[in-house]
Amino acid sequence: MTEESVPAFSDLSLHPAVLKVIQEVGYETPTPIQAQSIPPLLAGTDLLGQAQTGTGKTAAFSLPLLSRLNPKLKAPQILVLTPTRELALQVAEAMQTYARHLKGFQVLPVYGGQNMSQQLRQLRRGVQAVVGTPGRIQDHLNRGTLKLDKLSCVIIDEADEMLKMGFIDDVEKILGFAPQERQTALFSATMPKEVLQVARKHLRDPVEIRIKSKTSTVEKISQFFWQVKGLHKLDALTRILEAEEIDGMLIFVRTKVATVDLAEKLGARGFSSAALNGDMAQMLREKTIERLKDGSLDIVVATDVAARGLDVKRISHVINYDIPYDTEAYIHRIGRTGRAGREGKAILFVAPREKRMLAAIERTTRQPIKAMALPSRKDITNRRIGLFKEQIAQAMESQDLEFFEELIDEYQSEYDVGHRKIAASLAYLLQKERPLQPDERFAEEIREERPERETGPGRGRKTSDEQMQTYRIEVGRVHGVEPGNIVGAISNEGNLNSRDIGRIRLFDQFSLVDLPKNLSQEKLHKLKTVWVCDEQLQISPDSGSRSGSLERPIKRRTFGRGKAADNRGYKPGVKKAPFGKRVAKKREKTT
Ligand code: AMP
Repeated sequence: MTEESVPAFSDLSLHPAVLKVIQEVGYETPTPIQAQSIPPLLAGTDLLGQAQTGTGKTAAFSLPLLSRLNPKLKAPQILVLTPTRELALQVAEAMQTYARHLKGFQVLPVYGGQNMSQQLRQLRRGVQAVVGTPGRIQDHLNRGTLKLDKLSCVIIDEADEMLKMGFIDDVEKILGFAPQERQTALFSATMPKEVLQVARKHLRDPVEIRIKSKTSTVEKISQFFWQVKGLHKLDALTRILEAEEIDGMLIFVRTKVATVDLAEKLGARGFSSAALNGDMAQMLREKTIERLKDGSLDIVVATDVAARGLDVKRISHVINYDIPYDTEAYIHRIGRTGRAGREGKAILFVAPREKRMLAAIERTTRQPIKAMALPSRKDITNRRIGLFKEQIAQAMESQDLEFFEELIDEYQSEYDVGHRKIAASLAYLLQKERPLQPDERFAEEIREERPERETGPGRGRKTSDEQMQTYRIEVGRVHGVEPGNIVGAISNEGNLNSRDIGRIRLFDQFSLVDLPKNLSQEKLHKLKTVWVCDEQLQISPDSGSRSGSLERPIKRRTFGRGKAADNRGYKPGVKKAPFGKRVAKKREKTT
C-alpha cells in the first residue's frame, strides 16, 4: 500500500464508540494490515492474513469485530485462538481497551493453569469474546461450559506458532464446535503448507492479505539495535543522548499521545525537545520543523505520519523508540537521517517479543543491524568532561576575564591556597547540580532481576514470620544509610526492641524493613517524621509496587537478638539542614 492511499480510521465505517477509543489511545492512521483487513472483516468476509506481531494485527481484527458485535447478547460472539497464554492475555487486554465505550462488553482470557472455577463463573455470567489457548478452550467445549452456538467469528492468531507447538489439530477440532455460518480469519507470520491446508479447509473465499515489504538499501546509515532489557527505554534514551555526538535527532513513537509524553519527559530530564504529530496545526508543525532546521531545536519526537517526507539535513540520529509496524515504515523512518550525502545513525529499541520484526527488517534492508551496548558510566563521564573542557576553552577565548583573575588573586592571597585548589573548588561548584561523574545508580547496567519478582506485588510481603509486616521507609543507599542506622532510629524513636526489627533491605532510594504487624498508629505516626541520613523515614506499609528500574536491594540482613544498633547517620530530633537538602538534579541541554 502506498503512503498516499492510506485511509483515515474515520473512513473505515468503524463503530463510533470504537473510533472514540482510537482517538483516545492516539493511533493516527491505520497500519497497513489494518487498512487492508478492516473493510473485509467489517463486511463479514473470511480473511487470510500474513502478518507478524507488531504490525497492529490485534487491532486489525478487533476493531471491525467489535464494531459488529451485539453487546446486549451475553454469549460468546468472538473467539480468538492464540498459541500462548501471554498472547491470549495481551489480545484480551487490547480488546477490552478498544471496547471501552461499548457498554456491557466483556472479554474472557482462557488458558491452562488458570483457576478453572473463576473461568466458569465468568463464563456463566456471560462474555461476548473469548480469547484462549486451544487446550483450555477444548476443555470447556468438551465439558459444555463454553457454548459457541452464537459465535459469529473465529480468529486463529499466529497459526504458524500453533503448528510449531502442535496445536493445529486442536484448532481444527475447535472449529468443529463453531457454527457453519461464521466468519473465520487466520493470521500467520509465515505460511507453511500445513497452515495453508487449514486455511483452505476452513476459510470460505477468503480475502488474502500480505504485507509486502520492498527490499531497499540504506548504505549511508549505520544501524544499531538495543535489546530492551533491565532498563526502561527512557533511561536508555537518556544515556544515548548524553553520550552520542548528536546534531539533530528524530525519535519515533507509535502514538500522538506518546510524542507529547516523551517530549515532556525528556524536557524534565533537561533535553529540550518538541512533539510532532498529526493533531498539531499545520503551522505549528511547520514551525517545529523550521526550528529543527535552524538548530534552535535538536530533538523532535514524531509519529510516522507527521514525519512523512521530512527532509532536515542536520538529523544525525534516528531513534526508533517504538518499533515500527512494518519494514517499510522502518526504512522510511531511518531515511530521515543520512541526508544530503551525510552519515547517519539509526538506533532501534527492540523488546524481546519484537525480535521477529527485527529479523524482517534485516532481511528487507539486506543489512545486519548491529546490537549495541548502552553507553557506560565511564563513557558518559568522558563525554561530560569533554564538554566541560570545551566550555572552559570557550570562556577563555570569548570573555574578558580580568575582573575574575583579580578576584582569584585576591582569594589566593587572602586564604593562602594555590590556584589549583581554587580552580577545583570552582569546577566542583559548576558541576554540582549535574556532576561530571554520574552517580553510581547510573552505572547500574542491565539488571536481570528486579526486587519485586521475589514476592510479587500485592502479595503482602509477609516474612516467614507471620507476626511481621514489611514497611517502606524513604531513605536508601544513595542517602548513605546503613542497616544499623535504621535499627537505631526505629528502636529509639519507635520504642521498639531491636529484636523486633526483622529483615532490612536497602534499595537505592528507599529501604524495606520488617516490623511487627501490630504496630500502633501512634508509633507509626512518630516514626514517619524521624530523620535518618538527612531524610525523614515517612514509613508506610509496603505495597510491593516499585517505581523506577534502577532500584535493587543491596543487602539482606537480619538483626539478631540483642544485636547492637549502630546509630551513625541517625540523629534523634535533628532536622535536615537546608543546605543538606538533595536538589533534584537538573540536566542542561547537551546536544
Ligand atoms: P500488535 O501487532 O497487534 O501486537 O500491535 C503492536 C502495537 O502497535 C501495539 O502496542 C498497538 O497498541 C500498536 N498499534 C496498533 N495499531 C496502531 C496504529 N494504527 N497506530 C499506532 N499504534 C498502533
